[in-house]
Amino acid sequence: MRANEKVEIAIVGAGIAGIATAYYLSQKFGFRSISLIDHRPAMSYTSAQSGDNYRNWWPHPTMTEFTNRSIDLMQDIAQATDNRIMMMRRGYVLATRRHQIDELISDLERGYQDSSLIRIQESDNAQSYIESLGESYSSNTVGVDILKNKELIAENFPSLSQEIRNIIHVRRAGDISGQQLGQFMLETLSAKNHSSDIFRRVNGRVVGIEHANEYRIHLDEEGATKTLCADILINAAGPFATHIAGMLGAELPIKNIFQQKIAFEDRLTVVPRDTPYCVDLDSKVLAWTDEQRQSLTEDEQLAWLAKEIPGGVHCRPDGGVRGKWVKLGWAYNTNLSEPMDDLVNEPYLDPYFSEIVLRGAASLQPALSAYVDKLPERQHHYGGYYSMTEENWPIVGPMNPPSSFVVGALSGFGVMAACAAGELCASHVNGGELPSYASQLSLDRYDHPEFIRELRQIADKSLL
Ligand SMILES: Cc1cc2nc3c(=O)[nH]c(=O)nc-3n(C[C@H](O)[C@H](O)[C@H](O)COP(=O)(O)OP(=O)(O)OC[C@H]3O[C@@H](n4cnc5c(N)ncnc54)[C@H](O)[C@@H]3O)c2cc1C
Repeated sequence: MRANEKVEIAIVGAGIAGIATAYYLSQKFGFRSISLIDHRPAMSYTSAQSGDNYRNWWPHPTMTEFTNRSIDLMQDIAQATDNRIMMMRRGYVLATRRHQIDELISDLERGYQDSSLIRIQESDNAQSYIESLGESYSSNTVGVDILKNKELIAENFPSLSQEIRNIIHVRRAGDISGQQLGQFMLETLSAKNHSSDIFRRVNGRVVGIEHANEYRIHLDEEGATKTLCADILINAAGPFATHIAGMLGAELPIKNIFQQKIAFEDRLTVVPRDTPYCVDLDSKVLAWTDEQRQSLTEDEQLAWLAKEIPGGVHCRPDGGVRGKWVKLGWAYNTNLSEPMDDLVNEPYLDPYFSEIVLRGAASLQPALSAYVDKLPERQHHYGGYYSMTEENWPIVGPMNPPSSFVVGALSGFGVMAACAAGELCASHVNGGELPSYASQLSLDRYDHPEFIRELRQIADKSLL
């Protein structure tokens, strides 16, 4: 970078949010002078920890509309690239032992706003449902199928516990490769550089920002200080978004909570490879021996493990039908943390997590218990921050001072929402018409305390 170089738009953060924003600024609105600043390699911080699942199911129609838009955009990219982003559409299976699921159905009705999208499958011969299970990422099957028939559940999801009484199968859902999505967007942006100076990656950590007629962004690049000037600043710094806002004298209502995953080689093939992402909705007390339970109860730090833990433990095959690995997660942590620089040696990585998540997941897929205390050598335990608002909605739009924007608080849905979030942030920068969800997903929503209270009451339901 030349000293005091000037660009039109500077984006802080080369995670999926910053990259998608640059992509739509360039592709949709034709902005020609964009710099993407990061001291880390692109897609290497939170965006490297994602489970890469997507869904259009939310307990509120605004988030349903927003993620539907993102899925449309991901499908466009899948189509244009011969599915380089490895988009799969096996759905999300939400499983419960409860017989009575009226509350879940009313959440679905609130989220989809269309009861014809909710199909109850009560017979064991639900032919159109069974035939639709093999459809591709561009399938027209939407809404949800609610499986109430034990035989239908057992036949289609043989690895699930026989105690499961109801399955909510969300159909516009599945997984993608977030890394491929980011890489595709970066390559598209870089390919334009031959014609004029359109897009540039800048290596450096933002250490200070001044604002007068323009933004003067001070960068540290391995000890050397440089300044980049920009008319417009976009804060896409993920868990560090509040730090960047602080440099501008602004505050953002974003907190960080560390969440973990494990992935391992399913050498015993206990999870059939065509199983969708499965979530256990029921809270549970983990299965310990009496002796183990006694010693947990006596340990102040670990006593919670002997008590009831909220639902949400999940598992899915990773790497497609020919792959061998499975991924498990459980976002039960609620403690706030300050984001650390180094996620690999992260002090919040809990040494007991593998055992906890395996015991939890085994209550939904009993054969997984074969791995409790016996995880295969080829395994990976990792984690990152859910950078989130209390209501668990993103913040995309203008912030203070003028000509600065934020695309953040993407919590556990930032990969699936990246396309729509990037497009929305780019639309704010461009000015003009905005989508119907724009105002509610921006800082404007905090002008409506009653609405925020309502959202916070249903926030837990969106944490899968
Ligand atoms: C365990 C886990 C599982 C998840 N599973 C899913 C899932 O299944 N589906 C899904 O859609 N989402 C999932 N997510 C969420 C998703 O990964 C995130 O929402 C998304 O990656 C956030 O992207 P980002 O670009 O906002 O942040 P990041 O990827 O963190 O990018 C922010 C970038 O900003 C840079 N930065 C910060 N400060 C500075 C500075 N001062 N100067 C320069 N650069 C700076 C950082 O280096 C970083 O590269 C999961 C997250 C976790 C932790």
